[in-house]
Amino acid sequence: MEPYRNFIDGKWTPSKASRTVPNVNPANTGDVIGQVPMSSVEECRAAIASAERALPAWRATPAPQRGRIIDKARIILQRRKQEIAEALTREEGKLVHESLGEVQKASNVLEFMSGEAIRLSGETLPSELGHTFCYTIRQPIGVVAAITPWNFPVCIPAWKIAPALATGCTVVFKPATLTPHTAMQLVQVFEEAGVPAGALNLIYGSGGEIGNELVRHPAVRAVSFTGSNEVGMGLYRLGAEQGKKIQCEMGGKNPVVVLEDADFDLAVEGVAQGAFSSTGQRCTATSRVVIIDTVADAFVAKLVERSRKIRPGSEMGPSVDASQLDTVMTAVQKAREEGAKCILGGERERSGPLEKGFFFPPTIFDHVKPTMNLAQEEVFGPVLAILRVKSFEEAMEVANGVRYGLTSSIYANDPGRIFRFVEGIETGITHVNSPTMGGEPQLPFGGVKQTGLGSREMGRTAIDFYSELKTVYVDYTGQKRATNIY
Ligand code: NAP
Repeated sequence: MEPYRNFIDGKWTPSKASRTVPNVNPANTGDVIGQVPMSSVEECRAAIASAERALPAWRATPAPQRGRIIDKARIILQRRKQEIAEALTREEGKLVHESLGEVQKASNVLEFMSGEAIRLSGETLPSELGHTFCYTIRQPIGVVAAITPWNFPVCIPAWKIAPALATGCTVVFKPATLTPHTAMQLVQVFEEAGVPAGALNLIYGSGGEIGNELVRHPAVRAVSFTGSNEVGMGLYRLGAEQGKKIQCEMGGKNPVVVLEDADFDLAVEGVAQGAFSSTGQRCTATSRVVIIDTVADAFVAKLVERSRKIRPGSEMGPSVDASQLDTVMTAVQKAREEGAKCILGGERERSGPLEKGFFFPPTIFDHVKPTMNLAQEEVFGPVLAILRVKSFEEAMEVANGVRYGLTSSIYANDPGRIFRFVEGIETGITHVNSPTMGGEPQLPFGGVKQTGLGSREMGRTAIDFYSELKTVYVDYTGQKRATNIY
C-alpha cells in the first residue's frame, strides 16, 4: 500500500520517510485504509519554502479573485460530499450522517470565507490635522501553519485554510496523523479549485517533529492550532519565545445548567445529543449537567431512558483509537473509585461485530462532586457527569469551577435567570434552551480561560489572526508644515 503523499509546490510528492503509521478504521481494526509517512524535518522545511515562494504572487492576487477560488472549492466540495463523508466515517468513526453534516459545515465555511475575501476592509478615521486622510489597510501576515486534530478533520482545517487564503497568506497544513485521508481530499479540493502551486501545502508527520518545526521555523509567521491542552500550551510557550502569533483552541468541560422551570423533554433531548452525538468526541460536547437537586431525580430518569436507546455501532460510532478508548475507560474507573454512581453504561461494548472496534456505550455518572476528576477533566468520549446543586447561584459556581471555558447551555424559562447566566457564565460560546454543540461559520468560535488563547476563529474576526493592519496618514495640504506632535 503506497503511503499518502505530501503536497509541496503544487505536486503530490512521495515522502522519503522510512517509518509509516497505519490509518486504521476505528469501527473495524482489520480495515487498514492507508499508510501515513512520518516525514522528516527537511521535508517540512521544503513545504515551508514552497509556501514562502508562493507568497508574493498569492498576496498580490486581487482579493476577490482569491475569494472566487475559495467559492469554487465549495462547489467541488459539494460535488464530492458523499465520497468525503464516507472516507471521514471510515477513518474517524463518526456516523455517515454526522460526516455529511461535517462536510456541509466545511462547505458553509468556504461560502462565508469566500465572501470575506471581498470584504477585507480597513477603516477611515478623522485626523487631528486638517487635510490629512487617515485609514487602515489589512495585509496578509505571511506564511502560516495550520495544525489540526482528528475529531473534525474536514471542517477544522477548512476553517483555518479558507480565511488564511482569503487574506492572502500561504499555508502549510499539518493534519492529525489519525485522519490523513480526508486531509488529502480537502487539499485536492483546493487544488482543483485553482489555488496556485505552493499557496497550500500538506505535510504528514509526527506532531512532535513536524509541529515543532512549524512553530520554530523563522519563515512561519503565525500558527493556528486546535487540539489538546497538553500540546497547545507547550506550542504556545514555544511560539511566544519565537515572537510568533499563535492561536490555540483546546479542550472543554462544557456544562448544561438545568433549572426547576426547564422544559424537561427539551433539556433531556439536548443533553443526550450534546453528550453522545459524535461519540462525545466534540470539543463542544456536553460533559456536565448541573441540575437543581429538587428536580434531579425526575430529569435523570428521563435522561437515562433516552440515552439507553443510543446503541453503539448503529446510533453512535467508536472512539477514534485504542488510546482514546483507554482514556475513556480510565476516566470511568477513576469516577467509580472517587465514589460517583454509574447509572448507565460504563463497560466496553464487545458484542458481535463491535468486538472489532473501539466501542463504548453512552455512560452517565450521577452524584458527581465538583472536585472529582470527572467534573474537572475532559474525557473526550461518551461519558456524562451529573452534578446536583441547591440553587441557581451554586449552579453558576459549579458551572464556572473548571479551568476550561469553551461552550455552555442553560435550560430554563425565567428570563431574569437566563440573562444572569448568559452574563456570568465563563465560556466563549453559550446557548439558551439548545445543546452545547455546534457553531455557525459567520459567528466567532472559541473559548476563554485555558480553552482558548489568541483571537477567535470563524466569523469576520477570523481574518484578524491572518492579517496585519497598516495605518496610513496622507497629508494632502501640499505645504510644508509641522507634523503630528503626538
Ligand atoms: P492533539 O494530540 O493535541 O493533536 C492536535 C494536533 O497537534 C495534531 O495534528 C498532532 O499531530 C499535533 N501535535 C502533537 N504534538 C505536537 C507538538 N509537540 N507540536 C505541534 N503539534 C503537535 O489533539 P487531538 O487528540 O488530535 O484532538 C483532541 C483535542 O482537541 C481535544 O482536547 C479537543 O477538545 C480539542 N479540540 C478543541 C477544539 C476547539 O475548538 N476548542 C476543537 C476540536 C478539538 P499528531 O496527530 O501527529 O500527533
